[in-house]
Amino acid sequence: MRWPDGIKCLRCNAAAKIYALNARSFYWACCNEDCGERRGYRFSVITKTIFENTNYSLTVWFEVIYLMGQSKKGISALQIHRQIGSGGYRTAWFMCQRIRAAMQDKEFPKLMGEVEVDETHIGGKEKNKHASKRLHAGRGAVGKTTVIGAISRKGNVVCQMIENTDAKTLNGFVRKTVSGNVDLVSTDENAAYH
Ligand SMILES: [Zn+2]
Repeated sequence: MRWPDGIKCLRCNAAAKIYALNARSFYWACCNEDCGERRGYRFSVITKTIFENTNYSLTVWFEVIYLMGQSKKGISALQIHRQIGSGGYRTAWFMCQRIRAAMQDKEFPKLMGEVEVDETHIGGKEKNKHASKRLHAGRGAVGKTTVIGAISRKGNVVCQMIENTDAKTLNGFVRKTVSGNVDLVSTDENAAYH
C-alpha cells in the first residue's frame, strides 16, 4: 500500500540498491552511496509515519483509528486506553494525539495514484413513471439526482450529490477529493473538467 510502484528509500528516494533485511520483515536497507550510511540506511514500512516508535502493532493502531472514526461524539484517550486493554494511559493519549494531527492534514483523505472522475444522473426515466409523478419539464436530467464520483484504481472511492454540472462544481469536487500528488486524473470529454 505504501509503495504501490515499488519500494523507494525514505532518505534518498532511490529505487535501486534497496535490499530487504532477512532478519526482520518489512525492513529494508538502502545501500546507495549518497544515502551516507556505511552499512546501509535502514527503514521499515512504518518509518516516517505516525505509527513509528511505539510498541504497538499496526493492528492495534488500526483498532484505535476505527474507534476514533466510528464514535459520533468523539472518544477520550481514557476510553481508548480501556478498549485496547494494554499499555499505559500515556501511550493511548499519545496515539490519539498523533491520529488527530494526521487527520488535520488536508491531503490525508485525498485520492492518489490513478484516479477516474465521472458524473451521472440517477433516478427513474420520466416515461416509466406514473402520470401523477411525472415532472413534465423536459428530457435528460429532469427529476434525477446528479452524482459525481472519484475512484482511485487502488481502491478508495468518494461520491457526492451535486446540484449542477458546471465547471465550478466539477472543479471544486476534483480539488477537494483528489490529491495534488496524483499521477493521473482521467475523466470524460465534458468541457467543465478542463
Ligand atoms: Zn537511500
